[in-house]
Amino acid sequence: MSEKPVRVRFAPSPTGPLHIGGVRTALYNYLFAKKNNGTFIIRIEDTDQTRFVSGAQDYIMDALNWCGIIPTEGPGIGGEYGPYVQSERKDMYRPYAEQLVANDKAYYAFDTPEELDEMRDRAKAMNMPNWQYNSVTRTSMKNSLSLPADEVKRRLENGDPYVIRIKMPRNFDVRFEDLIRGWVTVNTNNLDDKVLFKSDGMPTYHLANIVDDHTMAISHVIRGEEWLPSAPMHIMLYEAFGWEAPRFAHLPLLLRPDGNGKLSKRDGDRLGFPVFPCDWHTAEGELYSGYREKGYLPEAFINMLAFLGWNPGTTQEIFSMKELEEVFTLERVSKGGAKFDPEKTKWFQQQHLKAVSDDQLADLLINQYGAKVDKTSLTKIVHLMKERAIFPQDILTEGVYLLERPTEIDASSIEKKWKDDSASLLNGWLEKLASISEFSAHSIEEVFKAYIAERNVGIGAVMFLFRLLVTGHGAGPSMFEISEFLGKQEVIERLKWGLTTVESMKK
Ligand code: GLU
Repeated sequence: MSEKPVRVRFAPSPTGPLHIGGVRTALYNYLFAKKNNGTFIIRIEDTDQTRFVSGAQDYIMDALNWCGIIPTEGPGIGGEYGPYVQSERKDMYRPYAEQLVANDKAYYAFDTPEELDEMRDRAKAMNMPNWQYNSVTRTSMKNSLSLPADEVKRRLENGDPYVIRIKMPRNFDVRFEDLIRGWVTVNTNNLDDKVLFKSDGMPTYHLANIVDDHTMAISHVIRGEEWLPSAPMHIMLYEAFGWEAPRFAHLPLLLRPDGNGKLSKRDGDRLGFPVFPCDWHTAEGELYSGYREKGYLPEAFINMLAFLGWNPGTTQEIFSMKELEEVFTLERVSKGGAKFDPEKTKWFQQQHLKAVSDDQLADLLINQYGAKVDKTSLTKIVHLMKERAIFPQDILTEGVYLLERPTEIDASSIEKKWKDDSASLLNGWLEKLASISEFSAHSIEEVFKAYIAERNVGIGAVMFLFRLLVTGHGAGPSMFEISEFLGKQEVIERLKWGLTTVESMKK
């Protein structure tokens, strides 16, 4: 392990909303920092102006904030290594690129986009579809390695557009140890001379990323597997600068639930679950749905994400962020792709919802879901409905009969369950209810048990219909508790209404 203090960064490009794969990368960086008394940084990589999407940076910061992935340094937060948005660091990259040219590690290339296209077309016609600007082909291109020095000078003075490319050495084995994948070796003959500095005066991702990781003293680069192919080139850049490279860890891909390919931006709404942390409205008026707006608790969302590619090595599955901060290690991150499981995601949500106190959930329903019920009643409703709910709003929708009387009774349920003695059994039960002086769940239950024994019938003969008539629903929490909550008067009135309604249905 590197001796340097742990400093990690999440470096999204603001090209759209943050996919859950990106949130997972941010989470693992955050957890790694916490676990190692390190610093978690956010850096916005916006050097590719053609892919810039307005609102994306705010979305990223807002989404991470909702998740509780809070950086110590970053845009809007500050820190000693700022600015943390690459476009605001624009002026510092060119000298680094020039330094490489001066040290014969990079060169100016004057080829126009048309010339490059032409070259590719020509190669294709000769059955070489993957033409690359590399250590072999560069000798026949227009650059400061192939052109005479005076022409290079003239072109530069003339203001001819140019890019700066890395000068990849020929036939050199680049080796580095990935903390998740182990040793990786790639020969430079397979690497091209990537552009480091563009003709628009902006660095490419590669240059800006390495310069920033170095100048921000990043100790570990933890990022998605899609960056693994770029890592050897990055190592070569560190070498070219004479800088010590950070440690690398490339995280496994997130796969579709059937394991068939990468979970993409479009999959979510198509497959019926969100792939974004929060709702995102495109400029074209499309909506990509998010976990937050679906009613997920951030704790559940984070817990689910943590398990997509990592496990604690024990059977424990429910973790708070604090607990994750204590147990997370890169050693337990898997190499293989992690299949997204929408059902498991709901399960995490349900478990975390159960763990929220009745009092807090009532507050949440009032403050975020606009529940118009007094806090005391709502807390009781929460208590009754929480066990069956997945989302906070389920408590209000599924427990609607605790607030409003039912307006109809399902005819097919009556058809199935109403027997010849049902009217007599329910009328008898109505009388018993009216006789209970202390209307508590416990005493209602006692009276009920005595009543069915007296009538010599099973629970089912009375209970289902009692529930159906009083709540309009065929299932729900204990009817004794529901009755206590509604109160004697209300239960009796509802039951009477139910009996009259059924009677009129029978006619
Ligand atoms: N800006 C890159 C991205 O959007 C960051 C890759 C890295 O972490 O090096 O994923």
